[in-house]
Amino acid sequence: MGNKWDHFYKKSYAQRLQLIADLVGLSDAQLQLIHQNEDQVSGELVENNLTSYPLPEGVVTGLIVNGRHHLVPMVTEEPSVIAAASNGAKLLSAGEGIHCAIPEKLVSGQVIVKHAEIKAVSKFVETNRQQILNIANQSHPSILKYGGGAQKVAVRELSPTFLSLDLSVDTGEAMGANIINTMLEAISNWLSDQLQVETTMAILSNFADEEVVEVTGQVAVAKLASKSLDGRQVAQRIADASEVAQLDVKRATTHNKGIMNGVDAAVIAFGNDWRAVESAAHAFAARQGVYKGLSTWQVVGDQLVGEMALPVPIGFVGGASKVLPLVAVNQQIAQIHHSQDEMQVIAAVGLAQNLAALKALVTDGIQKGHMALQLKSLALSNGATTQELPAVLAQLRQIANPNSQTVKEILKTIRR
Ligand code: NDP
Repeated sequence: MGNKWDHFYKKSYAQRLQLIADLVGLSDAQLQLIHQNEDQVSGELVENNLTSYPLPEGVVTGLIVNGRHHLVPMVTEEPSVIAAASNGAKLLSAGEGIHCAIPEKLVSGQVIVKHAEIKAVSKFVETNRQQILNIANQSHPSILKYGGGAQKVAVRELSPTFLSLDLSVDTGEAMGANIINTMLEAISNWLSDQLQVETTMAILSNFADEEVVEVTGQVAVAKLASKSLDGRQVAQRIADASEVAQLDVKRATTHNKGIMNGVDAAVIAFGNDWRAVESAAHAFAARQGVYKGLSTWQVVGDQLVGEMALPVPIGFVGGASKVLPLVAVNQQIAQIHHSQDEMQVIAAVGLAQNLAALKALVTDGIQKGHMALQLKSLALSNGATTQELPAVLAQLRQIANPNSQTVKEILKTIRR
């Protein structure tokens, strides 16, 4: 007799749910929760669909990018991220706001070739450059209609055993993973046929160094004053913090996590592949062989000036963007109409998020603001209902360093 989990994907939704429920003993209430969130359309995106997993969505206000105001929908489970991004956006909103530029937007991919002579392959590619680009375009002809297409091809030696043929493609409004993968497979087949070489794989590279957003933002130092420090002191401390992120991998990783708090939340709201953006960002942070902070801040005259270069490999179409219904709503809320607008807004949120985090770190410390906003999550995760929340929060605010025990005691008193 076959295992009842065999061909799980072929079973009906009800059968799959029943199998899981029987195995782990799900209650009726738990089954109802699963059902309630099940969405058949988005369920088609993944295999063995069970339910849809809701995450909170909020909106960042006050962001100005290249002179245009944007509201930015953000999907995140972390309290304080959206408040901090709005705070950073406000600080960077003078004049034209945050300046973003995208020097090029090309997706790159590689065909890995084994046991081939670099000189022979390079010469072959040089001689047949146009044909290789044509083969790529013919394998996915609609990309020409969208104004894109394969643009560059080069050969790199990885070791005496392996070569990489690198292809760069303008994938129009799409993130382009599927587009370039189709092209690379066509080139791989042709190459192994023509040169009688073994190709190990043909796949896009998530090292998105040809789709980088250059971001700059500035704030008058006077606007940074805190209760105990004047604006220039705070600005200098932010510059110092950014210097430490250039010196030390421990600090650089956390510095960049702060940037990605904003970036990921916006990437998810726009229905994009955040793993691609994450891997690109961290690889880019280590592009010189040492992992560094992605942004730097300097005091220049009476301004604190921030700069960041961030790869943002996303698409305005394709992937889940036209399947998840909220994506179109979020694009409208953000007033973005093209992938380049989306890239710029995402990167700008990253810089705003970074400024807010550094400012909090070098003044009050991160816990003060963070914990004030985390109190809600502390209360809810320890059993407070939304009705009980105001009363619980009022008491928690009076207590230094509250914890789960504190919430439980407050709840006991309230419920009595
Ligand atoms: P899709 O194949 O979903 O979308 C691209 C398609 O959108 C095009 O082929 C084209 O189809 C259509 N399209 C409509 N308008 C335009 C336009 N203006 N410009 C370009 N294309 C347009 O996705 P992508 O190729 O963008 O790939 C992204 C998906 O791939 C994501 O889901 C990602 O998670 C996944 N992925 C990621 C990998 C990675 O990061 N390593 C690896 C593999 C997949 P048509 O010709 O039919 O009109």
